[in-house]
Amino acid sequence: MPIYEYRCNECLEDFEALVTSNMVVKCPKCESDDIKKKFSLFATKGMEKQVSSGCSSCSSASCSTCK
Ligand SMILES: [Zn+2]
Repeated sequence: MPIYEYRCNECLEDFEALVTSNMVVKCPKCESDDIKKKFSLFATKGMEKQVSSGCSSCSSASCSTCK
């Protein structure tokens, strides 16, 4: 599951959220949906591992189950 890091534009709280499809992400502190996505931790790690392992169907660096 992708983890995204957000900053709330209302109270400037930094938080991370697991994002599933059709999910509305809100600030855990003030519940505002006026938030800004910073970057994806999942995507950054996934890209690094894909370069070394070449597995495209999962994010594991030592994948032996899906090849
Ligand atoms: Zn907030």
